[in-house]
Amino acid sequence: MGEIYNFSAGPAVLPKAVLKKAADEMLDYKGSGMSVMELSHRGKEFTGIIENAEATLREIMAISDNYKVMFLQGGASLQFAMIPLNLMTNNKKADYVHTGQWSKKAIAEAKKTGEVNIVASSEEDNFTYIPKLDPATFSKDADYFYIVTNNTIYGTEYKTIPETGDVPIVADMSSNILSAPVDVSKFGVIFAGAQKNIGPAGVAIVIIREDLVGKADETVPTLLNYKTQVDNKSMFNTPPCYSIYIAGLVFEWIKERGGLDAVAKNNQEKADILYDCIDQSDLFSSPVDVESRSLMNVPFVTGDKDLDAKFIEEAGKRGFKTLKGHRTVGGMRASIYNAMPKEGIEALVRFMKEFEKDNKKIA
Ligand SMILES: *Cc1c(COP(=O)(O)O)cnc(C)c1O
Repeated sequence: MGEIYNFSAGPAVLPKAVLKKAADEMLDYKGSGMSVMELSHRGKEFTGIIENAEATLREIMAISDNYKVMFLQGGASLQFAMIPLNLMTNNKKADYVHTGQWSKKAIAEAKKTGEVNIVASSEEDNFTYIPKLDPATFSKDADYFYIVTNNTIYGTEYKTIPETGDVPIVADMSSNILSAPVDVSKFGVIFAGAQKNIGPAGVAIVIIREDLVGKADETVPTLLNYKTQVDNKSMFNTPPCYSIYIAGLVFEWIKERGGLDAVAKNNQEKADILYDCIDQSDLFSSPVDVESRSLMNVPFVTGDKDLDAKFIEEAGKRGFKTLKGHRTVGGMRASIYNAMPKEGIEALVRFMKEFEKDNKKIA
């Protein structure tokens, strides 16, 4: 079989150079005679790995010293609970913007701890856009303001971050972290599961402003308290060592490519190629509002279920893998994270044009 391009929403494509390096180091990590999986998490090799990973992430995201970085288990989904347990502590109240399945799950979890005010929602239109926000609807006394910056399933993405005054913004960036530079100082907490744009499943990254650590009450389980994790540098217990190692290699890969400015430029070019193809097509269309289009996840449909299925099947045979859309949206979805090369999108677009010619709609 020829070249494979993996358009999976997650776990997703990783940079070939990173996988190659990991393969080279698999049996003998830097002369230790052991694989990273076999190293003590307290030993000097692994301590070096986690410290380097954090330092490189801090450098590429320009994270200032008043933010702590954690490498945690439980995926992004455990953060749906850890956020309210740790932050809904003053007024037991938080504002949430409802933009899809992931905000829905986060809202359900937060309701177990306190009061949730849904300031805006695009649910009525199957989450095809990021709703306009009216600051008059924000709670002045919210403990935090919660958004999902990129909605993986629906392919929508915030283009500007809301202004919330003194209320800290908590952002689920699972599917667009590291896709472009962000001003970390605008956020109280940024978190992301690794398996979209960072590395293998098994680790979640949490970046938190220092003053938001240590607010959980003592009934919160030890491991779920951010203070435990910060005080112990994510090593209160055994961390997901191998996932952290690969994440560190991905951070270095980003740095070597010129950092997030270069990555963002490349992502914009890649997304433009695909959206241009969809916009020029008489067969394919995007269900997403133009202004909310994600650069990472691109859903598209033919409007005919059978034709969608045929496209996905034929694409698969040609090496374009995992293009099936989420069951709640249908059609196709191309996830084009950092590690998807531009050639993959160019090849997909060539195939889409060919498919369109062979399957002309009867007018
Ligand atoms: C994938 C995803 C999640 C869930 O991640 P897990 O690590 O599986 O818990 C949460 N939020 C967003 C935006 C996602 O894309």
